[in-house]
Amino acid sequence: MPNKKTSTERQRVLYEQIHEKHDRQCAECGFDDPRALIVSDTHRERTKGGLGYLYAVLNDETGRYRLLCANHMMIANQEAGANRRLVGRTNGRRSRRPN
Ligand SMILES: [Zn+2]
Repeated sequence: MPNKKTSTERQRVLYEQIHEKHDRQCAECGFDDPRALIVSDTHRERTKGGLGYLYAVLNDETGRYRLLCANHMMIANQEAGANRRLVGRTNGRRSRRPN
């Protein structure tokens, strides 16, 4: 049980360090309210999340992770979707999985 709490606490600290590493602001516009800042993975690989992911973000040297505000995250997601066309989205509707 103490593990769970420790892990949550560690997660919070990691988020804090990640924000600090990225100057606590959106990489695009400099928006700096932490409540609306999100880590963006430019490669958009599927990740499990959790501590391993946070460590990867924190230790990354390649610049693939950026800190974005909610607005720019939305824009980045849309652009990624437009570039990929894997998902086969129809206008404004969420894609459904085959099966
Ligand atoms: Zn922004």
